[in-house]
Amino acid sequence: MKKWKTTNGCTVYQITGGRSNSYLVRDNDISILVDTGLENSRKELIEKLDDLLAKERLSYLTLTHAHYDHVGNAASIKEKYGPKIIIQKSEAEYLKQGTSQVPSGTNFITCLLVAIAGKINKFSEYEKAKPDFLVEDGYFLSPNCYLIHTPGHTDGSMSLILDKEIALVGDAMFGVFNWSVFPPFAADVPTMIRSWGELLETGCNTFLPGHGTKNSRKLLKKQYNKYRLKYLD
Ligand SMILES: [Zn+2]
Repeated sequence: MKKWKTTNGCTVYQITGGRSNSYLVRDNDISILVDTGLENSRKELIEKLDDLLAKERLSYLTLTHAHYDHVGNAASIKEKYGPKIIIQKSEAEYLKQGTSQVPSGTNFITCLLVAIAGKINKFSEYEKAKPDFLVEDGYFLSPNCYLIHTPGHTDGSMSLILDKEIALVGDAMFGVFNWSVFPPFAADVPTMIRSWGELLETGCNTFLPGHGTKNSRKLLKKQYNKYRLKYLD
């Protein structure tokens, strides 16, 4: 199991990988699950959580956004472990209804996929769940961990910042190619590029995405500078 640690002792475990990542964060006696993956990864998710949590409870389930491949197990995690579910306020209605927004593609292939998927609604449905806390921007979950609003992929996307060293960014960026962080889907590309700037501002060096493997600060900075010229100036 991949694991990262900050200098103040926050630990991150990558508990599911493959198509969608979810992470368990520990800061002293607080445990935070970030995203839950697809419904078909439920068994693996629960086995890993049972192992890692032992007797302690899960304090929070933080959802980076309400796409089906991130929140597919939110309802069952709530039922089994009873964490407080936290989501950005713009995403709350989707979670309550159990539907994803259909995102926009950012390239020819994904535009085509969106056009097809838009006709197959079932693709984006999941078990609905009730959020406990709605956040806007800047919300501390523990002394070293806080949430920031990083819109663009969706209106209410958010990221969890650990000790200003590691950021868990959902789909604000992808980690599938080692030369690019650009996600294949985004509701608003210029807003997403601005969020990259906000993420760089946190000082973090490691960016853990919802898909693929970690992105370095160096790569994010390079991509930010490239796309800033294209979309923001
Ligand atoms: Zn997404």
